[in-house]
Formats: sequence, structure tokens, C-alpha cells
Amino acid sequence: MTQRSTEDFAEYLIGFRHELHRFPELSSQEFATTQRIRQRLEQHQIRILDYPLTTGLVAEVGPSEGPLLVLRSDIDALPIEEQAEVSFRSEHPGVMHACGHDFHSAAALGAAIILKRQEAALSGRVRILFQAAEEIGVGARDIIATGALREAHAVFGIHNDPSLPAGTIGCKAGPLTAAVDRFALTIQGVGSHAAKPEQSVDPIIIASQLVSSLQTIISRNTPSADNAVVSITQFHSGSAWNIIPDKAWLEGTVRSFSAQARQLIESRFQQIVQGFSAAFAVNIDLDWQAGPPSVVNDEQWAEFALQQATRSGLTAQVVEASPIGEDFSYYLQQTPGAFIMVGTGEPYALHHPAFRINDQVLLPTAQYLADLAVAGLRTLP
Ligand SMILES: [Zn+2]
Ligand SMILES: [Zn+2]
Repeated sequence: MTQRSTEDFAEYLIGFRHELHRFPELSSQEFATTQRIRQRLEQHQIRILDYPLTTGLVAEVGPSEGPLLVLRSDIDALPIEEQAEVSFRSEHPGVMHACGHDFHSAAALGAAIILKRQEAALSGRVRILFQAAEEIGVGARDIIATGALREAHAVFGIHNDPSLPAGTIGCKAGPLTAAVDRFALTIQGVGSHAAKPEQSVDPIIIASQLVSSLQTIISRNTPSADNAVVSITQFHSGSAWNIIPDKAWLEGTVRSFSAQARQLIESRFQQIVQGFSAAFAVNIDLDWQAGPPSVVNDEQWAEFALQQATRSGLTAQVVEASPIGEDFSYYLQQTPGAFIMVGTGEPYALHHPAFRINDQVLLPTAQYLADLAVAGLRTLP
């Protein structure tokens, strides 16, 4: 490409990202977003596969058969009121692309267009996923249920990382993100007048001690090398200064990197809750909701992704595992591949209301994804 057409293409992708950013949609409601992506793909004669998805879509470039490599992007936004000072601010009140999925979608579109230009030379198929509902952990499973990955030989996904410098690609073999579990606890005590606590079974006292005891799962039961986390993030009880309430409600999350730690934490949770229930003669309901498992990168594909970064003129960096959650893990449970961090060098973390993306990273990311697909296909039988 000439310098001019490269600049035009970068502007095209940046313009598309800004369009997605202005009209963000929450998980499983990405109808207009899906339509915008579909239009762009159709303009470039990129085929869209006929899978039964309510939102999101699957595109494909290359011959009609042959080895299959999958690139995944996600398309949903978050329930956050945007505070970033940008000209293309969200026009949907209370909804924002604060995780950069607009960037992932635009990069995947860019990769699809680059691959389309060299379609005749591709040694296999590249399937590009525009996945819905990543933030609520269900979109990947919906795509897997369609059978879109059944023949896949390798799968790659990207996530922007504001803490890495722009132009740096981060990856590692083995666990990269954490398994995410969510829990809620309802302590059903007995209320009374505040002056007559002996007539109560005080849920505030029980819940307070329970919060402390649950923290010992990490400090006293889990090997420090597991880097697991228990966070209690909601504690609600009571209605007046002179009444002992009858109920307390707690909510929080558990993050873990190994299946062993995940199992250990859940079983210790149950033991502690049962123990408290018996000790205080109170009913405690534990609602445990298992989220996506840890993203575990294939050793060879993780190394391949880092080597490709260097070949594509970017900086490769082996990164540490991070306790965020990602439903990309479901793809890796059935197809080997790697989840890859793309540095944007921005000050605000993922999910922050002032979160921003460095647009200069967009075209290099699209090119990197296309390069990765072309080189990856060459290694497949
Ligand atoms: Zn997110
Ligand atoms: Zn995200």
C-alpha cells in the first residue's frame, strides 16, 4: 500500500471505532452494533456465515475449505456513564465502551479487510468472530454452541491493555486471566428492639464475623503462589438506628488461576458458611455462580504470538497473569490458541469512566492480527 492509502485505511478504521464508541450497546443487546459491522463486511465483500446468533456475527475469509484459524473480537459495552473528554463520546446515557471492545471490533474488521485483499494466497480459512456479551460471560458459549469452532485448529483473541506501552504485544504461556466466581450470602436472623438484643439473632454480628472468616480462605488455606482473591463488595442490612434487623446480605467475587485453588476456595466457603449456620443457629443461604474459567494459553501458540509481534514490527513482552476475567477461556478449553494483550499506554484502567484508547495502535493491531493469521495458517497441516 502507498503511504497515502495506508493513512486512509487507518482513518477508516479509527472512524469506525469512533462510530461504535458513540453508540455503545450493553451485553446481548448489540443489535445496531452487529448491523454496523455487517454493513462494513458486506461493503468489502467479506462473507458472513449463517450461524443462529441473536447479536454478534461470524465472518470468514479464504478458500471454502482447508485448515481453519479463528480470530475473536468482542463487541459489547458496559453500564458506565462516560467521563472521557473525547469528541466521539457515548451518546447512550449510562452506557460506555469502557473496556475497549469498540477497538477490538475495529481491529478485527481491519484484519478481515487486510486478509480479504490477499484472499487468493491464503493457505486456509480465517474465521473472524464478532462476539456478543463478553462482559456477562455468556457470549463465547453462545458462539461455541453454534458449532462455529468445531473444525478450528487454532484460536486467537486480543484485549487492549492500558498499562502496557503502545506498540507492545503482551502474552504468556499458561494461565493469563483468572477464573471468576460470584457469590451472594443471605443471613436470615431474628430482628428485635435494639435495646433487647437477647431476643434477636443479630445478622449484623454474624455477617461481620463471616466477612473476616471468609478472608482466611486466602490468607490461611490457599497457597500464596496461587494469587487468588476473595473480595466482599456489598454488605447490606438494617433500616433504623433502634432496630436490630432480621437479615443481612453480602455479595462478592472470587478470582483464582488454577482449577485446584478454585475448587478449594468454593469448598472452604461452604464449610465456613455451614459452620456459622450451626454455631449461630441461623439460616445462611449461599448462592454461588461459577463464571468463566481461567484463560490458559497454549505454550507454542503463546510463543508464536510473541514472535509474530516482533516480525510485525511491534515489541513483544512476556506479561504477568492478571486477575481479570475473560470468557475467551471457553474457546481455549476446546481449541488451542492464545489470548494476547495489546498495549495502548493509557492512564485509565479497563472499566474506568474516563477510559480511553490510543487510536494510533488500531491499524498496527489490525495488521498484526492479519499477519498472525497468515503465518499461523502456514504452520497448520
Ligand atoms: Zn471488560
Ligand atoms: Zn473486555
